[in-house]
Formats: sequence, structure tokens, C-alpha cells
Amino acid sequence: MSLNGRVAIVTGSTSGIGLGIAHALAAEGAAIVLNGFGPAAEIEALRQDFGARYGVAVRYNPADISKSADIAAMVQEAHDELGGLSILVNNAGIQFTAPIDAFPIEKWDAIIAINLSAAFHATRAAIPLMQQGGWGRIINIASAHGLVASPFKAAYVAAKHGILGLTKVAALELANAGITCNAICPGWVATPLVEKQIVDRAAREGRTEAEVRHDLLAEKQPMLAFTTPAQIGALAVFLCSESARTMTGVPLSMDGGWGAQ
Ligand code: NAD
Repeated sequence: MSLNGRVAIVTGSTSGIGLGIAHALAAEGAAIVLNGFGPAAEIEALRQDFGARYGVAVRYNPADISKSADIAAMVQEAHDELGGLSILVNNAGIQFTAPIDAFPIEKWDAIIAINLSAAFHATRAAIPLMQQGGWGRIINIASAHGLVASPFKAAYVAAKHGILGLTKVAALELANAGITCNAICPGWVATPLVEKQIVDRAAREGRTEAEVRHDLLAEKQPMLAFTTPAQIGALAVFLCSESARTMTGVPLSMDGGWGAQ
């Protein structure tokens, strides 16, 4: 178990990619702080399942990561209750689609806060703890949309391009602190975030969800298959390994060929 003794915060880990990453890190022995929204009973069942399955310490912190004070308190809890913080996965994210001239200002503000500013606040709070331990891994979940654009996703594309900039700056500042910072850029991953886009588009266009699911892939992702949260989790584990010690400041695509076009 390569991550015994490490403590990880994974934002947005009650669902989708974050949950897949939390499973993968816990399976390697890391203590986990789960975060994200959802029914309290389901989250408590998830927390207990993690503990039973992997034999690691697992806490749940309900931070709303659009609030910097919540983020600071979550990082402090990792320190106080789990003894430190060595892995930070900035994963939680939301989506909203509309043309720029009709993009609701509050949606822009929320997406920038959750998909970009939260990663700054968490990284800022985590660095001193990682420096104390002399080891750290910061993994930002960006997107294919961190590297290229699509119409109607102004806030999302801006935030994801921004998080790649933050990734590079953190990598440079931490280059000799034993701390790496990298980004993962998934293409389509079958999660509730994407399912909502499929359902909305099927309703809007009067087509079946199966047709829309196929078209989503065919439009962007030459490999006509969704990546799984477990596959993203495996890449996160690799980034936490000794083998990845000199990888830093890198956007790593896992996108079925999306970015090769
Ligand atoms: P998801 O909707 O399945 O999960 C999002 C998680 O974030 C949930 O746990 C949710 O509760 C949490 N969350 C949302 N707002 C929050 C807030 N204010 N505070 C705390 N937690 C909050 O989404 P997903 O598809 O797993 O996406 C995870 C990340 O991966 C996002 O950053 C997304 O942009 C990125 N991504 C997803 C895809 C994809 O195809 N699914 C592709 C590329 C990048």
C-alpha cells in the first residue's frame, strides 16, 4: 500500500470523479477527508463503507467550497483530526451552459468560485501543512476544456483554463519543497454532472438519451467510450507515487483523443 500514512482531502468526493479518486487513494492506504453535498444518511453510509473496506481513517467535512472560510476549516480539520495533510485533490465542480450574452451573472460567479477560486483557497491553506511534512501532492481536476473550448461554456472553460495556470504557478513555487502540483484533464466521464447534460439535451432536442449520449462522444471524443472515475483514480494514485516525483506543472489528458484533434 503505497499511501500508508498519507492524509488526503478530495473535494466533491460524494459523487462521480471525486468518489472514484477517493476510492483509489483509500485503497492505497491514505486516510481520507470526504467532502461534497448529498443526503446525510447516504454520506454517513459511504464514510462507514470506506472505513470497513479499506481500513483507513475516514472523515466527512461538509465544506461548501464556494466559501473560503469553509475550505480553511476543512484543511484545519485534516490537521487536527488526522495529523496533517499530504494530498489535496481539487475536484469539486459544477457546469452551466448558455451563450455568453445570455449567461446569468450569478452562474458565472458560482462556477468561477467553485471550479477555480476554491482550488486557490485550498492550495493556499494546504501548502504550510505539506511543507511541515516535507511531502505533498496537489492534483487539480481540470478538463479537456482546460485546453480547448466549446461554445456555451464560457465560465467553465475560463475556470478550467485558469486552473491550469494555477497548477503551473504552484508547481514552480513548490519545485524544491517535495511537493508536486499537476492537473488531470478528462474528456467525457460518465458521472451525474454529464448525465444531467444528457437529460437536458435530450429534452431540449426531443431525442432519446441514448442518441444524445452517442452524439456527445461522437462530437468530441474519437474513442467512442466514456472514461470511468476509477481510471481517473488510478492516474491520481500514480501522481502520488514515487515514480511521479519529478512530474510537476503538467496537464495530463485522459480524454479518448479529444485533445489530439
Ligand atoms: P459530479 O456532479 O458527479 O460531482 C461533483 C461533486 O462536487 C459532488 O460531490 C458535489 O456534491 C460536489 N460539489 C459541488 N458543488 C460543491 C460545493 N460548492 N462545495 C463542495 N462540494 C461541491 O461531477 P463530476 O463529473 O464527478 O465532476 C468532478 C470534476 O471533474 C469537476 O471539476 C468537473 O468539472 C470535472 N470534469 C468532469 C468531466 C466529466 O465528463 N464528468 C470531464 C472533465 C472534467
